[in-house]
Amino acid sequence: MKLDTLVLATRNPHKTEEIRAMLADLSITVRDLTEFPDCPDVEEDGRTLEENAMKKALSAHRCTGLPVIADDTGLEVYYLLGAPGVYSARYAGEDATYEDNNQKLLKEMTQVPPRKRQARFRCVVALVGKGFEQLFEGKVEGDILRSPRGTNGFGYDPVFRPEGEERSYAQLSAEEKNSISHRAIAIRRLKEHLQS
Ligand code: IMP
Repeated sequence: MKLDTLVLATRNPHKTEEIRAMLADLSITVRDLTEFPDCPDVEEDGRTLEENAMKKALSAHRCTGLPVIADDTGLEVYYLLGAPGVYSARYAGEDATYEDNNQKLLKEMTQVPPRKRQARFRCVVALVGKGFEQLFEGKVEGDILRSPRGTNGFGYDPVFRPEGEERSYAQLSAEEKNSISHRAIAIRRLKEHLQS
C-alpha cells in the first residue's frame, strides 16, 4: 500500500513525536489533529480498544479526508480479569492522574503473590482511508511490581515490568522502551503493511 500522507488522530505531542520517529524511514508526511483544529474530539466510550481506535480513526478520516491512524492502549491484569483494560486512563475515576491509577492498582494487588501478578499491555492501531479499514495489534507480557520503580515514561510504566527484564518500563530509556513496547510492535506491523 502506497501512502504519501498519514494523519495521526491525536493532539498529544508526545504521541505524535513517538509515532513520527517510528515511521521516519518511510517517505510519508506525518501530520496530526493539531493541524485540523475544527475536527471534533471523540469520546472514548467503546467497550474494547478496537472499538475506540476505529471510532477515533473514522472520525478523523471523515473530518480530514486523508488516511488516518488512531491508537488505543490498555493495561490488562490477568488477576483482575483484564482490568483496567479499556478503562486504563480513568481507572481511579474520571479525572484520575497516573499516580492515582497506579496507587489504585497496587492497592487492588496488595495480597496477590508474585506468580499471579502477570499482566500485559495491549495497543491497537486502526488505519482508515478511502476504501480501507484495518487493525494492527501489539502486546507485551510482563508483571505488576509491588511498588513503583523508575521515573521515565508515563502512565503505568513505573509498575509494569516487561517479561525478560529486571527493570520496569519506567527504568528503561525512551529508546529502549520504544524499541520493545506494545505501541512499537503495533506500529511495526502497520509499517510492514504499508511497505507490502
Ligand atoms: P491511550 O489509549 O494511549 O490514551 O492510553 C490509555 C491509558 O493507558 C493512558 O492514560 C495510560 O494510563 C495507559 N498507557 C498507554 N500507553 C502506555 C504506556 O506506554 N505506558 C504506560 N501506560 C500507558
